[in-house]
Amino acid sequence: MHCGIRLTRKNSNTEHIHDRALGGINESSNKIIMCTSCNLARNKTMQIYLGPPSYWQGFPGNWDRVKKYLLWNAVTVDKGHDAGESYPEVHHIFESILQSNGKPIKPPSHWFGRGNYCDIIVTEPKRRGFWIRVFDRIFGYESSQNTPVIAVNRTNHRENIEERVKPEREILKIDESFRHHILAALSTIQGEIDLATFSSYFQLYLVSKDMRKQSLKQFAHSFGIPKRRSFIEIIEDYFSNEIDYRRVGQTVVYITMKNREVFEYLANEDE
Ligand SMILES: [Zn+2]
Repeated sequence: MHCGIRLTRKNSNTEHIHDRALGGINESSNKIIMCTSCNLARNKTMQIYLGPPSYWQGFPGNWDRVKKYLLWNAVTVDKGHDAGESYPEVHHIFESILQSNGKPIKPPSHWFGRGNYCDIIVTEPKRRGFWIRVFDRIFGYESSQNTPVIAVNRTNHRENIEERVKPEREILKIDESFRHHILAALSTIQGEIDLATFSSYFQLYLVSKDMRKQSLKQFAHSFGIPKRRSFIEIIEDYFSNEIDYRRVGQTVVYITMKNREVFEYLANEDE
């Protein structure tokens, strides 16, 4: 994201986006692969800009700097090196470190980022437990009590924008047998199924009903649904009461019948 170098196992390591020294969590949502020298330069930037740790000791006097540093961290991860210019005091320290190491700054147009656009929100920390408070008092840790935490709201911002801009889709009045066959096929499956597998399964279902073997999309198209509609859109438009879906990553979608528990409950009662 900074220098544009091609990453390999040898020249890269894992960076905590929100530094551990500033309260960042040690989980994958807070990690990114980065070239080793940029990673070191980011760490050095923190120490030049904020001074040596521990940072809670400087609170609240250093809060303005801590905040700018964390925001610079987040924005460069999500929008690339040049976006760091929004926080010039931090950015120029980082650039001068890279340049003094003889490292050229050639930000790439694409990199392995977090995948999501993130809204950065500042939240108050949870109240500490009783014993934590006792020990904090004994060891003079009081000042961290009111340190706000920068959290990353992992909603997919890009998707929200698309949804807002998208014009209303036209929902056609189509023959009920379209819904009937999709629901009949899906209701024979226990739990969730990914869309790709369901699509293959649906072709077998059609064959078993002496119907023409075709893909889900072709099947929908044969009822007049435009080819450009994704199956997710079809679910939203025609099956919002019956089918649930959830995305896993960028491409995998799982679908399942809604209210399955209700059906199972009624079936048990019959017994
Ligand atoms: Zn780099």
